[in-house]
Amino acid sequence: MRLVILTGAGISADSGVDTFRDEGGVWSQVRLEDVATPEAFLHTPDRVHAFYNRRRAQLPNVAPNAAHLALAALERRLREDRHEFVLITQNVDNLHQRAGSDSVFPMHGQLDRALCVHCGGVVALTEDLSTKTACPQCQRQGGMRPNIVWFGEIPHFLDDIAAAIEGADHFVAIGTSGTVYPAAGLVEGARQAGAVTTLINRDPAENDTMFDHIIAGRAAEAVPAWADRLVDSLTERKA
Ligand SMILES: [Zn+2]
Repeated sequence: MRLVILTGAGISADSGVDTFRDEGGVWSQVRLEDVATPEAFLHTPDRVHAFYNRRRAQLPNVAPNAAHLALAALERRLREDRHEFVLITQNVDNLHQRAGSDSVFPMHGQLDRALCVHCGGVVALTEDLSTKTACPQCQRQGGMRPNIVWFGEIPHFLDDIAAAIEGADHFVAIGTSGTVYPAAGLVEGARQAGAVTTLINRDPAENDTMFDHIIAGRAAEAVPAWADRLVDSLTERKA
């Protein structure tokens, strides 16, 4: 059995991470063209760095919640029984990794990594980025950018994600509003692959007619309960 999970802002919102698209979210306070496009980085890199430095600095102040922990535990449990588990996230925080999830595809990038536009190197970040930051690999200055997929750029890991979806038996989207493509289209691919599809979300999503099952609720409550039921059903099937 292969379970493929897609998570979005809703799972991190329960940890207190600012969401982007909700009312009062980040994009209602900052114009995304000013900070989240390659053009913004070209013309006003200091503003882009300040925005992501501030968001990166929040990371130590938030912790994985019960949903992140339940997914990490589910991954270990399924692996023990030789099932496959793939976690795709649209979130750029590091909460899945800190919860102990092993194989994560952060398709929209990672706040705690920098990308060098000169050599393509991706390095872990512990301090603020600036236009003076030198690349630890090629030593050049001025080309270090947040390893974030900006608007108009191609998401990361698309080949791995397509391969995972192709063989999915279950596809579960958690805390995602179904508005950002290509993530929002993954459910369609999963359906074509014959997967059973489930949405766990606080509010109705744009694409919720695509799902076989809908569980309404906050991720921190609904995900642990769903994971328990899944493990129970697998245990029953084995008995
Ligand atoms: Zn470099």
